[in-house]
Amino acid sequence: MKIHASGFASSSIPTSSLESGIIPKNNLHGRSDNSERHPKGTQARVLLSSVFGPYAQDDEFGSRSINPMELYHNQVTRAQGSFSLRMFHRSWGIMLIQSNISAPCAVLDFPTRDRFVRELTTHHYDVVGITGIIVNVAKVREMCRMVRELSPHSQIVVGGHVAAIPEIERMIDADHIVRGEGVAWMRRYLGEDDRAPIRHPAIVSGMRTRIMGIRLPEREGATAATIIPSVGCPMGCNFCTTSAFFGGKGKFVNFFETGDELFDVMSQMEDRLKVSSFFVMDENFLLHRERATRLLERMKQAGKNWGLSVFASANAIRKYTMQELVELGVSWLWMGLESPRAGYSKLQGADTRELTRELREHGIRVQGSTIIGLEHHTPDNIVAEIEHAVSHDTDFHQFMLYTPVPGTPLYQQMAEEGRLLSDVDYADVHGQFKFNFKHAAISREDSKRFLDWAFWRDYQLNGPSLYRISRTLLAGWKRYKDSPDARVRERFAREMGKLSGVYSSALWAMEYQFKKVDRGVSEKIVALRQEFKQESGVMARMLPAILGPVLLWTTQREERRLARGKTYEPPTILERSNWVEA
Ligand code: SF4
Repeated sequence: MKIHASGFASSSIPTSSLESGIIPKNNLHGRSDNSERHPKGTQARVLLSSVFGPYAQDDEFGSRSINPMELYHNQVTRAQGSFSLRMFHRSWGIMLIQSNISAPCAVLDFPTRDRFVRELTTHHYDVVGITGIIVNVAKVREMCRMVRELSPHSQIVVGGHVAAIPEIERMIDADHIVRGEGVAWMRRYLGEDDRAPIRHPAIVSGMRTRIMGIRLPEREGATAATIIPSVGCPMGCNFCTTSAFFGGKGKFVNFFETGDELFDVMSQMEDRLKVSSFFVMDENFLLHRERATRLLERMKQAGKNWGLSVFASANAIRKYTMQELVELGVSWLWMGLESPRAGYSKLQGADTRELTRELREHGIRVQGSTIIGLEHHTPDNIVAEIEHAVSHDTDFHQFMLYTPVPGTPLYQQMAEEGRLLSDVDYADVHGQFKFNFKHAAISREDSKRFLDWAFWRDYQLNGPSLYRISRTLLAGWKRYKDSPDARVRERFAREMGKLSGVYSSALWAMEYQFKKVDRGVSEKIVALRQEFKQESGVMARMLPAILGPVLLWTTQREERRLARGKTYEPPTILERSNWVEA
């Protein structure tokens, strides 16, 4: 997890994050010689669960309305009202574990308390695995208590970032606390080969997507498949929990070492999920150049016009030409901007504004990420730093508070300096509320004010992200619609062809909505809509006249709902494998 840029800020994926590593109490994570074995081995019946909801509310178990189960909405587009991109992501860590054990296994994702009780009382489970992140510790504690009461014969295994909390074993009643990569641990625990190749589960990257008051249809193949090539990041930025959790600086865990392996697994997912785009959940995908280059070779040989959404640091992106990125199908890129004065090696020598502009001109949507409250920030300089961040004009922008999270070098440093605030609930350590440490120049209250202002300023100046991605897509289309590379041409045609009518209609509604509040943004939208008209076919040109007013109505209806406090929750999902009813 991370409170940052080029990776998934798992503080904001409030159930399990990807990292469901598990180690026995007092053991070192990642060790392959753990002596703990479940006596039933692969005959043991396993339940793997994320923490219970509801999530978008304030309660005694650590749910927070400010930190709903919607990654984009809670830390990227949260100031964008009805234009905020809202969707849910499954708990990929436990899905990955389930796919890689041969024991009968049930994954229960986003349960309610009642649903968790029902599962425990209607089936016999030898092992109950619970995954969570730091903010979930009270829920994990409660779920352990429930398991002891309702299923006393079960062994309890707890993994995910919650395991990084100091002395967690005193806070929860679990048999095993697992840190680091969890597939290998669970295989060893069940007596299986922990070095066997990874079987990748079929993961649809997002679900129940909403924008402008509409839930998007979930057609087969319409949503990208998630691919997890590796976990961790060797860059080792001091605040990065993902990097720290998988070994820290210089370390990471590869599930698919080579471009050939990656190509094969992506081909399998293409067949199973009928997709042509992939959300590549790797903290710094482009850093592994040899693997990416080989993947590109294989894609060219097979004529694959796949689209890839990736995370990458600025120094990794600069190892590639724009042509290579476009040919590789990179269509969306999450990049850490952090601060122009930050000393992180991933940013050394990078002109991130120029890089962002160039990427967007080539049709690559950029998601920037900026940290609020770095050590050098003061009330006098932070506004200028936020203005600098906003001036990147990225398609999306995440802002996160500088947050010492257990397990990171930053946390250790703050602890040693006696700067951690002792009265902050773990449920509030997610980077979207207030500082959890003493800052030299900025108060806890002001940290929230500056954070909120950054989101507001980005939206005010740059408009809805939906407008921005439309603009980038169109720029890419105009540049590459006649590309000599058929794969590139087809990818842009696919994105533009499917969506130009819908984007134009959304722009029509946006233009109307913004006319009332901000003529500057509205005029930019008008100009883009004209460009879309020129590039679209007849049908797409006509569609806004019909669909535009509908979208305007749903947008305004959504604004009223949100004003009344409407929130969204993910559905409970149960999936069984190797299952025979007892
Ligand atoms: S570059 Fe790597 S270590 Fe640094 S924040 Fe991004 S994922 Fe974490």
